[in-house]
Amino acid sequence: MAANVMEIYGSKVFNEHVMKERLPSATYKSLKDTLHKGAPLDIEVANVVASVMKRWAMEQGATHFTHWFQPLTGATSEKHDSFVSPVGDGTAIMEFSGKELVRGEPDASSFPSGGLRATCEARGYTAWDPTSYAFVKDDVLCIPTAFASYTGEALDKKTPLLRSMKALSDQARRILKLFGKNVDYVSTTVGPEQEYFLIRKEDYETRQDLILTGRTLFGAPAAKGQELEEHYFGTIRPRVSAFMKELDDVLWELGIPAKTKHNEVAPCQHELAPIFDTTNVAIDHNLLTMEMMQKLAPKYGLVCLLHEKPFEGVNGSGKHNNWSMSTSKENLLDPGDTPMENLQFLVFLAAVIKAVDEYADLLRTSVATPGNDHRLGANEAPPAIISIFMGEELEAVIDAIASDSPYAGPVKVKMDLGVDVLPKFSKDTTDRNRTSPFAFTGNKFEFRMPGSHENLSDANTILNTAVAKELKGYADELEASDDFPDSVIALVKRTIRDHRRVIFNGDGYSHEWELEAERRGLPNKKYTPAALPALIDPKNIALMEEFGVMTRVEMESRYEVEMEHYAKIINIEALTMLEMARKQLLPAINRYMSELANTAATKLAVSESLSVRSETKTLAQLSKDADEMSDAIDALAAAQQEAQKLGDMTAKANTFHDKVLPCMETLRAVADDAETVCGEEYWPLPSYSKMLHYV
Ligand code: ADP
Ligand code: MG
Repeated sequence: MAANVMEIYGSKVFNEHVMKERLPSATYKSLKDTLHKGAPLDIEVANVVASVMKRWAMEQGATHFTHWFQPLTGATSEKHDSFVSPVGDGTAIMEFSGKELVRGEPDASSFPSGGLRATCEARGYTAWDPTSYAFVKDDVLCIPTAFASYTGEALDKKTPLLRSMKALSDQARRILKLFGKNVDYVSTTVGPEQEYFLIRKEDYETRQDLILTGRTLFGAPAAKGQELEEHYFGTIRPRVSAFMKELDDVLWELGIPAKTKHNEVAPCQHELAPIFDTTNVAIDHNLLTMEMMQKLAPKYGLVCLLHEKPFEGVNGSGKHNNWSMSTSKENLLDPGDTPMENLQFLVFLAAVIKAVDEYADLLRTSVATPGNDHRLGANEAPPAIISIFMGEELEAVIDAIASDSPYAGPVKVKMDLGVDVLPKFSKDTTDRNRTSPFAFTGNKFEFRMPGSHENLSDANTILNTAVAKELKGYADELEASDDFPDSVIALVKRTIRDHRRVIFNGDGYSHEWELEAERRGLPNKKYTPAALPALIDPKNIALMEEFGVMTRVEMESRYEVEMEHYAKIINIEALTMLEMARKQLLPAINRYMSELANTAATKLAVSESLSVRSETKTLAQLSKDADEMSDAIDALAAAQQEAQKLGDMTAKANTFHDKVLPCMETLRAVADDAETVCGEEYWPLPSYSKMLHYV
C-alpha cells in the first residue's frame, strides 16, 4: 500500500520534480526564479515550458487544456480547448504554445463583475499563475490562472490574493532585514480544515430544497441529534470509509497532501485536513478538494453537502483557516529559543494583533455569506465578533510587557523587559479554545469563522494586506530609529496596550462576551448585509489601495457582487419554500386529513359508540397547521415580491434579510409542526431521522 501511495502521489501534476527532469536546465532555472523569487517570465521560456508540458499532459491522457480560474462567484471555471490543430492535408497535430500557456481570453460577460463590466467592457483575460502547478483532471490539462479585465481590474479571487502575498512579503522582508536577515521571499501559508456532510443519494434526490439550495428548508428535528456526542472521532462507517480512501487517492494523485480525516460533531458530518502549503496553492487545492468530494460521493451512493448549514439543530460546517508567515528557513510565528528570536516573534505577533483589531470589520466581510449567517453565533461557531485567543502563557507574557510588570507565567522568569531577559516561552501550552474566532495555536493562527463552502481567497487577501500594513508601519519606525532592541520593545509594548481589547481568552459562545465586546467597542455585525458595507468603508479602501491589492472600483464591485449574491440566494430559498409548501406539503397534509376524516366517518357509520377522539385531535392540529401554512405562504409570497422588485442592491439585500427571512421562519415552523403528526407515508420528504441516522 505504502509504495503505491508514493507512486501515485503527484502523478497528475506538472510539479518541480517533473520540470527538473524534463525541462532544459536553463529553462528550469528561469522558471524556478519565477516560482521562488517572483521574477517575471519571458515568452521564450514559456514556449519551451508549454511544449514540454503538452507532451507530459498527453502522456497522462490529456487531449485538451484549460485556463482554470476563480471568478467572483468563488467557484472555479474552466473552458476546454483541444490541442488539435489541423495541418491542411486532412491530418492534425497537437499544439500548445507559450502564448496559450501564459494568456487566455475567455468571454467574461457572463461572470458577475459588480459594475466592472460597464467600465471595461465584457472582455477579460486569464494569466498563468506559475506558482501553482498545472495538473491533469478528467483528460484536461488545467493551468491555474488569474482573471483580469483588459484595463487591469481583477475579475477574480486569485489576483488580489497574489497581490496581497507580495505586499506582505515586501514588508516582512524589511522587518527581517532589521534583524539582520536577508531573505528572498516571505510566504504566507494556509492549512484549511474542510468540514462536510455525506448523506444518502436517494434521500437527497427527493428533496428539492437540498437540490436547489444546498440546505433543508423544512424538517422537524430528529428524535436524536448530536447530544450523545458519539459521532465526533467515532468509528467511520464502511461506506464512508471507502469513499474517504478513494478520495485520498484522487487527491494524492493531484499532489494535494490530504493528511487527516475523521467524523465531526454532527451525525453524517466529516472533516478532511491537508498539510499546509503556500496560500494560493492551498486555496487551489482546497477548491479541487471540494470538487473531488462532490464528484466522488455518488459513486458510493452518497451526496456531499458543502453548505454551511444543511440541517437545523445540529452543527453546520466550517473551514478553519490555519495561517502563518514563513521564509524558506523559519516560521515567523514560531516562538524561538533565544531572546532575540523571541523579540522577532513578538514583532510579527504584534503586527497580527494590531491588524486584526484595526481591520476586524473588513475581515468579517470575508466570511459573510448567506449560508454562514446560520453558523456564526449559533453555539457551534464563533460569534460575529472578531477577537483573538492567545493562550494563558502568551497572554501572561503580553500582559507583563504591556504593564511593565514582572512576568510570572509558567516559566517563572522575572523580567524587566530588557531584551536579554525576555522569557523563553514554551510552544505547546496553548490550550485549545474552540470558541475563539481567531486563535493562536502554538505557531500559527487559526481563523475559524470561514464557512465550509467558501473560497478562502478573500479572508487571506484581507489578512495578508492588513498585516502588511502594520509591518510597514513598524518598518518605517524602526528603520528610522538607532537603538534597535529598545525601539522594538517599545513598539511591541505600545501595540499591545493599544490593542489589548481584541484579545479575549474566555468563552466566545457566551452571552456575557457579547456584552463585554460591546463595552470594548468591538464590531458585531450579525448578518451579511450588515457586515458587507465595511468593504466600501474609506479606511478599508485606503488599505487596499495603499498596497495595490484592490482599487476603490474593485472594492465597490465586490460589494455589489456580494450584496446581489445574498439577495439572489434568499430569493431562491424563498421560492423553493413556496413551491414545496404549495405543491408538496399542503397537498400531503390534506391527503392525510382526508384519510383521518374518512376513518372517523366510517367508524361512526359502523357504530355511533366508537370513539373518534384520536382522529379528531390530529385533524384539529393539522387543520390549524394547514390554515397557518396557507397564511404563511401568502405572507412569504408578498414579502418575496416586495424585495425582488427593488433595484438598489443594498436595499434589496436588506429587505430580503429583514422581511423575507422572518416569513420563511414562520412558514417552516408550522410545516415542521405538521410533519411531527402527519403519517410518514403521506409526508413527501425524508425526515431528519432518516437522513442523519440511516446512512
Ligand atoms: P487541529 O488540532 O486544529 O486539527 P493541526 O495542528 O492538526 O490542528 O493543524 C490543522 C491544520 O493546520 C493542518 O492543515 C496543518 O497543516 C495546518 N498548519 C500547521 N502549521 C501551519 C502553518 N505554519 N501555517 C499554516 N497552516 C499550518
Ligand atoms: Mg483546527
